[in-house]
Amino acid sequence: MELTFKPVIEKPKGQPVIIAGPCSAESEEQVVNTAKELATHGNVDLFRSGIWKPRTRPGSFEGVGTVGLNWLKTVKEEVGLKVTTEVANRQHVFEALKYGIDVLWLGARTTVNPFSVQEVADAIKGVDIPVLIKNPINPDLKLWMGAIERILKAGVTRVGVIHRGFSYHGQSEYRNVPRWQIPIELKRHFPEVQIICDNSHICGRRDTLYAVAQKAMDLSFDGIMTEVHPTPDEAWSDAAQQITPATFKELVNALQIRVTTSENPEYKNTIDHLRQEIDEIDNELLNLLGRRMSLAENIGEYKKRNNIAILQSDRWSEILETAKTVGKTKGLSEDFVAVILKAIHQESINHQERIMVSE
Ligand code: PEP
Ligand code: MN
Repeated sequence: MELTFKPVIEKPKGQPVIIAGPCSAESEEQVVNTAKELATHGNVDLFRSGIWKPRTRPGSFEGVGTVGLNWLKTVKEEVGLKVTTEVANRQHVFEALKYGIDVLWLGARTTVNPFSVQEVADAIKGVDIPVLIKNPINPDLKLWMGAIERILKAGVTRVGVIHRGFSYHGQSEYRNVPRWQIPIELKRHFPEVQIICDNSHICGRRDTLYAVAQKAMDLSFDGIMTEVHPTPDEAWSDAAQQITPATFKELVNALQIRVTTSENPEYKNTIDHLRQEIDEIDNELLNLLGRRMSLAENIGEYKKRNNIAILQSDRWSEILETAKTVGKTKGLSEDFVAVILKAIHQESINHQERIMVSE
């Protein structure tokens, strides 16, 4: 099935889509005042606010519910900003449509569940409202793609995605680790889809919001979604990551927007040249890897003849440690060297194994 995407928000080239607003709607005053302040910036495209909050544990603030839709309606009619909120089931969709919400979004806890995504898809069938789909909590590209396909199949033409990072059980400076490779891979599958970076849920704190938003711009993302609250420390949810409208304005103004290409002949010449060199190196790397695997097969033959086990863990630890040390002198991080070496080692074992089991 050929999938086509229309933009959720149309912006001139080089201008990011800006989505901002509180994590949760708390009161009419909080919602409308935040929207009024954001509207004075002139570059906010969409006002966000959670009405139904999917909290990890019961007992935390679970959103004001339907009454908050009236406040978003006021934002739309009196402040003049388009509005978006999270929906997770049929009831949410019906209510949001009834109150004229402009754009719906699926949260990370909904994208993980195909039953919920399908329920939302069935509820919007026949209504061509734009939908933004957050990545699932776990780093599963297929689950994300599946949710996108379900919504497109419902006849929605304006589908975009939000990258909000992935949960991680180790130590990290992020609340949700970005794993940039996953949204980049998504873009490779769906080149036209608009990708918005939710720096708030990636960072979980204020001091890194700008760096993550800038990184998204450097990676040619289409925009940002940031949580903004008039008094962030007093927010009823996600207080640590929310910023005031004034701080948000500074953040947006400081963003450097890169162009994706240039018509300048000198630039084109240089970049073509550099790319050619990169292609040659990639080719060399593949040739070398091919040679390395042939050697692994020879070793496999030899081990088989002498009835020796494939895995020699001392030798493997030694290879890894030496590679990390050498890698460091070439400016390669330990993590990178470990990932590459582990992949090569696994492929090598697979080759040897094939030899071992062959007649
Ligand atoms: C939110 O945007 O407030 C939210 C609940 O986000 P996520 O689904 O990314 O956790
Ligand atoms: Mn939030």
